[in-house]
Amino acid sequence: MTYSLNSRKVAEAAADWLASRGVQLMDIAELTYILQKDYYDDLSMEECLHSVEQVLAKREVQNALLTGIQLDKLAEAGKLDSPLQEMIEHDEGLYGCDEILALSIVNVYGSIGLTSFGYIDKTKPGIISRLNDKSGKRKHTFLDDIVGAIAAAASSRIAHRKQAEKEAEEQ
Ligand code: MG
Repeated sequence: MTYSLNSRKVAEAAADWLASRGVQLMDIAELTYILQKDYYDDLSMEECLHSVEQVLAKREVQNALLTGIQLDKLAEAGKLDSPLQEMIEHDEGLYGCDEILALSIVNVYGSIGLTSFGYIDKTKPGIISRLNDKSGKRKHTFLDDIVGAIAAAASSRIAHRKQAEKEAEEQ
């Protein structure tokens, strides 16, 4: 029998895992709104939420999400081998694979999301500062970057669509 995986199952798992780690889609939509609100007066939260949903519908995004959350959970449970365990557990500065995995999400809508991704990482608005809080027992070494990347990709998607709308109007 050949191996085949139901795409809907992957999509559902990605949504479930995200919720189980305390992240609501509205939290991500809020980040997208922060990134784009200065450029479009008519931007709504619904539009941002829809864009986040569209990003999450992509299989490569779901794959990155599942991979990152799994590593966070294993680190939390102390189940990784040394020295990876210590690096992920303590979100070590020189590790960097969390950002690299997240970039595969940013790139889904082109490189214009890179600036937004960097901005979120630097300013840590909303849910990102909560995920970054190191005082609890939960480890979100991968998830903070993944959530920022989803918001950045959703923001790029909005920028691309608004541009296309503008060009259509001008014709
Ligand atoms: Mg991180």
